[in-house]
Formats: sequence, structure tokens, C-alpha cells
Amino acid sequence: MIHEVIPVGPLQCNCSILGDEETRTALVVDPGDELGKIQEVLDRHRLRVSGIIITHAHIDHIGAAARLRRQTQAPVYMNENDLALRAQLAMQAQLLGMEEPEETEIDITLQDAATIELAASKLIVLHTPGHTQGSISLHLPAEKKLLAGDTLCRDSIGRTDLPGGDGHQILVSIRDKLLTLDDDTEVTPGHGPATTIGREREFNYFLRTL
Ligand SMILES: [Zn+2]
Repeated sequence: MIHEVIPVGPLQCNCSILGDEETRTALVVDPGDELGKIQEVLDRHRLRVSGIIITHAHIDHIGAAARLRRQTQAPVYMNENDLALRAQLAMQAQLLGMEEPEETEIDITLQDAATIELAASKLIVLHTPGHTQGSISLHLPAEKKLLAGDTLCRDSIGRTDLPGGDGHQILVSIRDKLLTLDDDTEVTPGHGPATTIGREREFNYFLRTL
């Protein structure tokens, strides 16, 4: 599977492009900004977008979704518990001093344990609320990969002081949904460098009580 991670926008959100070499179809996860960079990767691999997945409705993860949807006609997937947050993009933009992006339609809502197919591969949706109420992580069991959104980062966890955040709930999500994965599962967080479940289990200070 093709997997490219592109940091986009002023907050350097990790946008993931997952592509299938056979069918040349792709899923774009968290197209927050800088559509040109995303398009360049899609073009380089000759990929056609079949779905756009939003791990949570913060502006740095969802900002370019409306434009990518229009450009590709691909459906946008998100957990319904972040619909209210998606409707507050103007407020989010103002807080960060950014231009307000166009609000995207959500075509398909994702529940916990839902699966999304990319050719023969499967992504399993893990509902991991805490950073926001609709935060999801994506597990690719065959690839031993996890796209963790802003739930789990290298040496850190997502902030929970923003509207919809819950500091206890994020730890429960990480304990019950993420730390149950194998240690050698490679984690792509929503921001910053990659890590593994085993590394975070051992060294992440925020998880010391779990
Ligand atoms: Zn976030």
C-alpha cells in the first residue's frame, strides 16, 4: 500500500494519503489545508480519490475537505458527534487568526467498528472520544498501522481544554481502543513524528496511570 504523510497548513496537520497500487484508488485522511501539496502526491502516484476521511472536525484537519470533495466527487466520512464542531469553523478560524474555510458536507457518518475499504484492504474505525466527542482513529490491521488523529501523539496526547474535550475520556479511549493493539503497530499521529503503540505504552508520560 502507498502511504504518504504530508504536514499541511500552519499547524502542520499530518494528512495521510493511502493508495492501492493495483486499482490506483486512494483515501485522503485529514485534508486540512494546502490542497496543492495533496494533489501533487495523488498525481505522482496516479491515484484517484475514492474517499475523504476526517478524524475530527478541527479546522486544521477539515479545512480543505470541501474543496477536495468538489474536485474529486469523493464522499466525506466523519463521526456524527463532531457535526456541531464542523458548524463552528468560523469560530475556530477566528480563534486561530485563520481565514474561514468552506464548510464541507458529510456524506457518510462513521460509527465505532465501521469498516472502510480501499481495494482489498480494510480500515477499521475506532471511536476514540476525548480530544473531541467525534474523534476517531483508523486501524489498518493488515498493515499494522494506526492513524491516530489527535488522540495519541509521540510522547503526548491530544489537548482536552478545547470545547468538547474531556481529559478522563481521552485516557479511557486510549486504554480501551489503542493500547489493546499490538506493540509493533506503527502510529501516524495528527501532528508530529510517527511512533509505535509499544513505544507510547512504555514512555508516554500521559499514559503512566493506565
Ligand atoms: Zn484537533
